[in-house]
Amino acid sequence: MTKSFASTERSTLLQNMAKEPFDVLVIGGGITGCGIALDASVRGLNTGLIDMQDFAEGTSSRSTKLVHGGLRYLKQFEVKLVAEVGKERAIVYENAPHVTTPVWMLLPIFKKGTFGKFTTSIGLKVYDHLAGVRKHERRSMLNRDVTLEKEPLLKKDGLIGGGYYVEYRTDDARLTLEVVKEAVARGAKAMNYVKAEELLYDEKGIIKGVKAVDQITGESVELLAKKVVNAAGPWVDSIREKDNSKKGKTLHLTKGVHIVFDGKRFPLKNAVYFDTPNHDGRMIFAIPRAGKVYVGTTDTNYKGDPRNMNMSVADRDYLLEATNGMFPSLGLTAQDIESSWAGVRPLIHEEGKDPSEISRKDEIFISDSNLITIAGGKLTGYRKMAERTVDLVASQLSKETGKTYPACSTDKVTLSGGYFNGSDNYEKRVRELTAQGKTLGLSEEEAETIVRLYGTNVEKVFNIIRNKENKDTGLSNAIFGQIEYGIEEEMVSKPVDFFIRRTGALYFNIGWVKQWKEQVINYMQKRLNWDDATKQAYVDQLESAIEVAVKAEA
Ligand SMILES: Cc1cc2nc3c(=O)[nH]c(=O)nc-3n(C[C@H](O)[C@H](O)[C@H](O)COP(=O)(O)OP(=O)(O)OC[C@H]3O[C@@H](n4cnc5c(N)ncnc54)[C@H](O)[C@@H]3O)c2cc1C
Repeated sequence: MTKSFASTERSTLLQNMAKEPFDVLVIGGGITGCGIALDASVRGLNTGLIDMQDFAEGTSSRSTKLVHGGLRYLKQFEVKLVAEVGKERAIVYENAPHVTTPVWMLLPIFKKGTFGKFTTSIGLKVYDHLAGVRKHERRSMLNRDVTLEKEPLLKKDGLIGGGYYVEYRTDDARLTLEVVKEAVARGAKAMNYVKAEELLYDEKGIIKGVKAVDQITGESVELLAKKVVNAAGPWVDSIREKDNSKKGKTLHLTKGVHIVFDGKRFPLKNAVYFDTPNHDGRMIFAIPRAGKVYVGTTDTNYKGDPRNMNMSVADRDYLLEATNGMFPSLGLTAQDIESSWAGVRPLIHEEGKDPSEISRKDEIFISDSNLITIAGGKLTGYRKMAERTVDLVASQLSKETGKTYPACSTDKVTLSGGYFNGSDNYEKRVRELTAQGKTLGLSEEEAETIVRLYGTNVEKVFNIIRNKENKDTGLSNAIFGQIEYGIEEEMVSKPVDFFIRRTGALYFNIGWVKQWKEQVINYMQKRLNWDDATKQAYVDQLESAIEVAVKAEA
């Protein structure tokens, strides 16, 4: 039987996609498109999805990785947005506790800072209320001493206290993966590295599908669908150009960079949300994760290719200056940066506004050819964006066919790997699964790391370790299980898919990438039958990704 999400089956999967007229075909496998594919398949629509790169390779692996209530939007009085995304984070946590972690966030208050004591207290209270924050996660206000106890590295000069509240940290790329895997488990057909090259129209000029090209094999097919959704993130306008419908509102791209430090060099105890000392009215995050600390973000206008973005020296220095301003005893330098990433926000242009002032709201545009474009928005609001889009698709289909479709129910849909019977059982089950991993000879640390990474799907990784022979690969059993699982069940096609989007290691464990890259690539070559030239191309691609992560561009 063909495995529905195995990179070894690419050709069969593409041919299968070409056989069907889908009810809906989604262009774009970031969080927006994957969310739409899940909602549509849950409602019984025959659904297809393609991405020209890897899943989440666009913006959805390059965010601040917070499923957040958007405290800062309160400052801009975007009350509805705060309420909606605030509630969403509770839903994501319940449906995928393995990719969502509550973290206490400290907002230090300084004389003459962005948030005063009173405004922080009221602001966080309104936030608790709007976002429906759980009782034990409601905000508290701290005096100066307690603030310093929570975070001794903070600048002391001018510090008068702090607000303490909960944000939810996620793994954006894995969240996207779990959403699309759940969609596939429910019947959707989805592929990475397949590009919508041309749009196809019927005799009345209504869009009826795309000419799609497999970017790995060059194979070309026509994918037909009753409805086509453009969820191409920073590329939505280039799809609209193909459709001759790029008019009215357009995208405004802004670039955001994050830098990563080792936790030993930057021993931050709590996540902190703080004013930059640059007097630009911006605030940034410093967030501990798995022994590292990441800091971001910048927010600057961007006009280049969204595929090739690097951290510039200016981005790096801006973040270093801000971090040293708030944590002055550290004296961090460029040499302390272990890794970094840069992404672009696909925002909807608003005349005369600075990058940080532009609303993060989403909007749907319907063109004359009925290309349905969803633009703007945030990772956090992906489910609601999907609901609005699929409501529209379903209502159009109902009008045309008389068939009715159920309402959105993804708030109750567990995501792939999230089958813990609710977040309350998460830690207990993690302990049980870790113990199971240890019986296979994995160390406690190895077992727990992969349990938290794959959630309940880790049992499939364990089965691979148990049943498949790991001979002459040079790989540890844990990595062997992960890479096999990636190839068979997560459409890992290239080494960068594994080291960036499936494991997050290029950002948070770059030493591990350097240690294992050769063995992983050798194994993938055998497993996926690459010739030497193909292998070399993938080696070069990974090396270049490592260089981009560690080096700022002049
Ligand atoms: C620096 C930064 C920090 C952020 N922090 C947060 C945060 O903490 N919390 C939060 O909620 N949000 C955050 N966001 C916003 C969030 O990351 C984005 O809103 C979200 O990831 C956008 O997802 P998307 O699916 O719309 O776009 P993408 O993830 O870019 O997906 C679009 C996909 O379309 C594909 N595509 C394009 N053209 C074609 C084609 N012709 N054929 C096939 N496929 C195609 C691309 O390859 C791409 O993978 C942040 C964004 C940035 C840049």
